[in-house]
Amino acid sequence: MPETRLEVKDLCYSYGNARDAADHVSFNVKKGQFVGLIGPNGSGKSTVLKNIYRALKPAGGRILLDGEDLLKMSYRESALKMAVVGQENELPFDFTVEEIVAMGRSPHKKLFDADNANDKQIVHHALEHLGMADMANRSYLNLSGGEKQRTIIARAVAQESDFLILDEPTNHLDISFQIQIFDLIKRLNTTVLSAIHDLNMAALYCDYVYVLKNGRIVLEGTPDDVLTVENISNVYGVDCCVSRHPVTDKMSITFLPAGIKTKE
Ligand code: ADP
Repeated sequence: MPETRLEVKDLCYSYGNARDAADHVSFNVKKGQFVGLIGPNGSGKSTVLKNIYRALKPAGGRILLDGEDLLKMSYRESALKMAVVGQENELPFDFTVEEIVAMGRSPHKKLFDADNANDKQIVHHALEHLGMADMANRSYLNLSGGEKQRTIIARAVAQESDFLILDEPTNHLDISFQIQIFDLIKRLNTTVLSAIHDLNMAALYCDYVYVLKNGRIVLEGTPDDVLTVENISNVYGVDCCVSRHPVTDKMSITFLPAGIKTKE
């Protein structure tokens, strides 16, 4: 049995609205798995992830990272174990691509420590891995959305944690960048927990998915098991056709506009 990297038990979080944004959410992520959190807009995916990467503090429940209580760890300790790629990657000041990626080294260092030769090599490898080495000296603010996202993923790689938390990493990116980013992440061969908006992307890349609706996990399983016409209709309220794609051998979903029904 692969070891469990992340265990979330009865996580609750409320923004003070009528309904809790995370309502007794429980799930786990095993070493080496690529796990997707899917569900409609507003179902709580971001809220759950923010509680895990410590941008929000749970109102209830427990989060164990490698068996240890996350909330009892220092931020540095948890940053050594997990790297985060959020949705909004805008920065108030400009930096070069290389400087941003080098920030990934900070959990490994003391305040004001300069980058040593080892740090520089790791940063260089991360840039190469994400195809960003040629852009090392470019200004971050002038990059395209896809290049920015690759830079932030390179920073996560330079952080050398073997667990990536991603919040809809390809949001706003066109299809070629979506594929490129997910391929790159998959090639890292690391443990991944990602909110994914696009069900076809979830089918292509995830080993296991949890489905959120109204702050609760309503379904879980492999994409093959979960992405059925009936489940998609129940959760998203849309009609679709689902078939196994002859080339990818993964589930392929075609959404149907109102008025078009599947042929019996
Ligand atoms: P998802 O990532 O699945 O789109 P979110 O976690 O962003 O869902 O949102 C879950 C619920 O919490 C939604 O009802 C949303 O409106 C609400 N919510 C999210 N962020 C805030 C906030 N900062 N203040 C108040 N309500 C919020």
